[in-house]
Amino acid sequence: MKKDTKIVNAGRDKKWTGKSVTVPVYHSSTIIHDTVADLKWAIKNIKNKVMYYGRRGTPTHFAFREAVAELEGGHDCLVYPCGLAAINAALMSFLSSGDHLLMVDTVYGPTRALCNTVLKRMGIETTYYDPLTGANIIELIQPNTKVIFTESPGSVTMEVQDIPAISKAAHQHDVVVMIDNTWGNLICFNPFEHGVDISIQAATKYIVGHSDAMLGTITTNEKNWLQLYDNSYYMGYTAAPDDINLAMRGIRTINTRVKQHEESALKVARWLREQDIVELVLHPAFSDCPGHEIWKRDFNGSCGLFSFTFKEGHDDAITAFLDNLELFKMGFSWGGFESLAMSFYNLKKERFGNQWNNYGPLVRLHVGLEDPDDLINDLTVGLNHYKNAM
Ligand SMILES: *Cc1c(COP(=O)(O)O)cnc(C)c1O
Repeated sequence: MKKDTKIVNAGRDKKWTGKSVTVPVYHSSTIIHDTVADLKWAIKNIKNKVMYYGRRGTPTHFAFREAVAELEGGHDCLVYPCGLAAINAALMSFLSSGDHLLMVDTVYGPTRALCNTVLKRMGIETTYYDPLTGANIIELIQPNTKVIFTESPGSVTMEVQDIPAISKAAHQHDVVVMIDNTWGNLICFNPFEHGVDISIQAATKYIVGHSDAMLGTITTNEKNWLQLYDNSYYMGYTAAPDDINLAMRGIRTINTRVKQHEESALKVARWLREQDIVELVLHPAFSDCPGHEIWKRDFNGSCGLFSFTFKEGHDDAITAFLDNLELFKMGFSWGGFESLAMSFYNLKKERFGNQWNNYGPLVRLHVGLEDPDDLINDLTVGLNHYKNAM
């Protein structure tokens, strides 16, 4: 079946829906077992999507897990209260004291903070690597390296990673490859076809798609499933049924939405590229984006999120730009119907291999579902304020 057909039908097995088109929302902590024999059967099948106790899940959870696992192309999936909790659960399930983690230098900021604080305190050592390292990553693998963590394109600066080359090197040393696949959503990148073992989604973004719930998912291949399942259970991870219901609703339109985000973002990005004060438009579909050739080879498309830098300027000019946008709201997160703009002031400090010292101020845009011509008009006003403040 083609993707759109899968998106409509994923997780809608009759065993979850009954006679309804949609999956019921179970609000349940306690599950009633009618007989001792029923209870014993549930215990025996506890890892196979059977109702046992609320934390182990209900059909609301099971159907969503099945849908995401199918659409990501993995073996099975678990749900978490937000994307960062999923990242934490993935790392904590596969790393122990004394282990070494290879982390991409362009990772989502809070993931970096997690490594530098909690993981460090637990005796897990992190080495940050260049996002454009492909097969050469093998030189960084130590005897105690257990996980290589990737995020492609890189957070904010959009470098596309050579995931197949990294996975090949990792598997030669029995190292687990994880990806934060939030930009790739369920449409733009198929992680398991490119050698990834574990794929994480901040479902908060395009899966929920309407900025009204937070949720995370982890999908694994068969080999790594039980380790993730058991450890996540020991750590007490679960997610609320109403939030899962919103995410399940989001799935039904994700391809339609992402296609529109892609088209509108490309229109805005092409326009931005022609503005005299814009230095660089960092969009994986543009040939000057680092890793563009790999994006062309491995991805199915792009979404609404990209960045750009100004040729020159300072904090006052960025402030004038952001404060005078009306349709682009200033806020974190992305993947909803609305357009967002955000400046990242810490890039020059945070990253080790820091070529970002050479560029002007950077702004990240999420292009929402508004008419792109209106968005361009909005940016025109913002750019004029930027110029006047320079
Ligand atoms: C937002 C985001 C996260 C964290 O997701 P939350 O649901 O906000 O915790 C992780 N990774 C990426 C790439 C994100 O954009």
